[in-house]
Formats: sequence, structure tokens, C-alpha cells
Amino acid sequence: MADQFTTGPIPTFDQPEPEPREECGVFGVWAPGEEVAKLTYYGLYALQHRGQEAAGISVADGHQIVVFKDLGLVSQVFDEQVLSSLRGHVAVGHCRYSTTGSTTWENAQPTFRTTATGSGLSLGHNGNLVNTAELRDRATKLGVTSRNGATTDSDIMTALLAASAADKGLEQAALEVLPTIRGAYCLVFSDESTLYAARDPHGVRPLVLGRLERGWVVASETAALDIVGASFVREVEPGELIAIDTDGLRSSRFASPEPKGCLFEYVYLARPDTTISGRSVHATRVEIGRRLADEHPVEADLVVPVPESGTPAAIGYAQGSGIPFGTALVKNAYVGRTFIQPSQTIRQLGIRLKLNPLREVIRGKRLIVVDDSVVRGNTQRALVRMLREAGALEVHVRIASPPVQWPCFYGIDFASRAELVANGLDLDGIRRSIGADSLGYVSLDALIAASEQPKTRLCAACFTGEYPIELPDDALIGKHLLEGIEKGVAGSAAPLQPAGYGAEDALRRP
Ligand code: SF4
Repeated sequence: MADQFTTGPIPTFDQPEPEPREECGVFGVWAPGEEVAKLTYYGLYALQHRGQEAAGISVADGHQIVVFKDLGLVSQVFDEQVLSSLRGHVAVGHCRYSTTGSTTWENAQPTFRTTATGSGLSLGHNGNLVNTAELRDRATKLGVTSRNGATTDSDIMTALLAASAADKGLEQAALEVLPTIRGAYCLVFSDESTLYAARDPHGVRPLVLGRLERGWVVASETAALDIVGASFVREVEPGELIAIDTDGLRSSRFASPEPKGCLFEYVYLARPDTTISGRSVHATRVEIGRRLADEHPVEADLVVPVPESGTPAAIGYAQGSGIPFGTALVKNAYVGRTFIQPSQTIRQLGIRLKLNPLREVIRGKRLIVVDDSVVRGNTQRALVRMLREAGALEVHVRIASPPVQWPCFYGIDFASRAELVANGLDLDGIRRSIGADSLGYVSLDALIAASEQPKTRLCAACFTGEYPIELPDDALIGKHLLEGIEKGVAGSAAPLQPAGYGAEDALRRP
């Protein structure tokens, strides 16, 4: 079954690049008397953009935990019959994009382990760890490495928690194990009767707490609270463990908070209708666009977004510049979300599979095209060519983030450093590479100002190369690290190439 997901696109000149991909969405419910599986299904549905490779839900009823998971979109994995069979009052949900471990059924989440006393533990993880090799060594010493073929940092965490929970209970085990885990992690997990949520001390990824009339919800984004009718209570704090059961909600701190929220969540990753650290993502993107207009003005007839993620910044650019906003590109929202492999003929269409130009709007106009980010530059190159073919007189590209120059080790899958168009080319080189009449990126200062967050509380490593969480040696990090260890090749003279990590980083990484 996994085969159909593992064939990559055949590159052509017009081929759009894969967008930066999130690592996962998590959702949890504790609500006696509610259909928790269905609530979780809709929560995951709202978080589908965070992971489209696999989906799963576990439900606990006080006596046992049942996990149902598979490869595919949330709507492909679950149907009415499956959801009706998942009965209980505690649910953990997950939608996955892989940043550690391949796309296999075994690596789908929630992960599941039993403790020595027979109790169950299911866990959903959003993020990416940086000390997976060390944790795996510890799991090996305890004799709890994977017996089910899973090769993820999330499975190792689950194993360590289950091993520790055997004699002291899961809550105490979490308070002892979590401080030893390094990297980005938002966790939602449960035993037979209690829902837990935890966020790493840096709070790299978002995690929020919501209230239902008869229970509690935790979710990666506030938009998922809205969809199930939960009211926002607060964010889960960096370094905080929350436990929810019949005794109510308990909060413990397992580490001192050192907030470093992901700046790229504001640029692209989070839904526009989500709020992070009290700041609306949509409002942030509009403000970025206004500042982009201030920093990179140009005479033109129309401001057009690259839909959907470029739309708020294009609105802001139009407001800031006084140039009319217009729609010139129509997005097929469902392309890229089908698992039917396109034929070679269809594949050659490249970007036209995804975006179609409105020729009557474009013809004879000087356009300002606003996009959220540039990774490899393939999409923008294809786009500029398509707009010229549709009759644009001039195409000026404006980008609502600074150049992406460094890989992310905290859960976002960019290209390798060698593939990043901003690596090795100056601004004019990038402009010529994509064929635009002019090019402008918003500055880092303007982006941070638009987020309304203090600079010291943000991670901006993909723009600056300054990584807030210390990274291990190159051979001890990467998407296929655990598969490499299984095969006995990790840590060898030829280190595995992690996703989003180029060979030259070994020399240049701070
Ligand atoms: S490196 Fe970039 S994408 Fe990764 S956590 Fe930091 S800001 Fe976010």
C-alpha cells in the first residue's frame, strides 16, 4: 500500500515544487458522554493541511484503548462505520507528514505501546526530535526498541514513556522522561482513562487547550477548536504537562520555558483562521504584505496572489501600495491531494495542474505577484512563464518572507540546502533564475514586527541559520536515522542525508 505514496514527481521545467510541508497535526478529547471519535475526526479534518500522508484515532473507554490508523487523508481513512465502532470518552488523533521515518502504516500515529503491567499508551506527536539516536540507545538498553517495524522518534518516545510508566504511572513517567527529550514536540497521549498533553520547553510548534460543555480538547491550532465548537482556553505552555481525567485538569511543569515559536507558522504553515500567541495568522499575513509594499514598491496595474497562502499578503500589499487587488490565478484545491499518480502526459502540465491563469484579467497588465515563500524557485519560475504566456506585460514578484537559506530540523520539510534557490544566488541572480522583471523579499525585521512577537521568543533559523535548540552531529540526525540504525549504517563515514539537509551544511552550520 505504501508504494503508491513513495514515487516522487518527475521533474519537468514547469513542475511546481513541493511546498514546505508540516510535520503533523495532533488533536485530543476528554469528554464523557460525547462521541469523541467523531469530534476527533472533525478536529483532524481542520488540521489536514499539517499532514496528509496518514491519519489515526485512538479511543479509550476506561478499560481498553483501540487504535485505528491508515495511510491517506482523514476522509479516506475514516468512514461512519469505523468512527461508530470507536467508543469511549478519551480520544487521541493524528494526521501525519513524515519528518522521521518513512511513510508506512507502521509509522502512522497514534503510536501504541503496553506497559509491563498491561496498561496501554497511545500517542500523537507534532514536531521533530534532535536527540533521537540517544533516546534510541536508551530504549535499546531497556529492551523496548520497536518490535512493530516503526522507525520514528515518536515510537521511541512512546516506548520510553511506557517503560517508565510500568512502576510509577504515566503521569509521573512523563514528568521524568520529557525533560530528557530534546527538539520540537507537541504531544497528545492517553492511557485507558486520562488524556495528557505536553509541549517542549521551546514551544516550537503550537498547541492549545479548549473547553467543551462536557469536556476538554487539545489541538495543534485554534481553528480545530472552532470546528468542534470548543472555546479557546489558553495555549499549553512550553515545558508544561497537562493531565485531564475525572479529577479535573492538572498542570505540571517539567522544564523551564524558553519560548522559540516557529516564525514560519505565521508565514505559511498555520491556517489563516488560527491564532498563535494571541496574534491572528491572517492579520499577520496582511501586515506582512503592507510592509512588503513599503519595502519593495513598484509601479504596476494589479496585485495578484498565488492562491491560497499568498492571498492575505497580497491583500496587504494592495492596501499598502494603493494598487488594485485582483484574482488572476485559479487554484485547483484538490490537486496534490489525490493519490492517483498522474500519467506522464498529465505530469508534463506541471504547474497547470495546480494553477490556471485568467487570461482576460492578465492580458496587457503589469502584475505584482505575491507569494508566501520561495524554496527551490521552481514554482515561481513556472508561474512567471505562465503569466507572460497569458499576456502579462511585466511580472514583479514579491515574497512575504525573507529568503529561506537553511534547513529546518524542528519538523518542517524544506528542500536540502543545496536545492534552496537562495543558497548561492544573490537577489538579482534569483530574479534572473525565475525570470521576473523585479523581485523583493520582506525583511526579517518586518516579518517579526508583523507577527507582534518579541524576536527573542521566536525561531527564525531557516532564515538566519541560528538554531535555538542545539543540534547533534550530522550522522545523528535525519529523516531516515532509525532506518539507518536498523541497517547499521548511521554514524558511519557516509552519514545519511536528512530531509532538508544538504551535505555542505556540515561545514557551514553554526
Ligand atoms: S527553522 Fe524555520 S520552519 Fe523550522 S522551526 Fe525554525 S522558523 Fe520554523
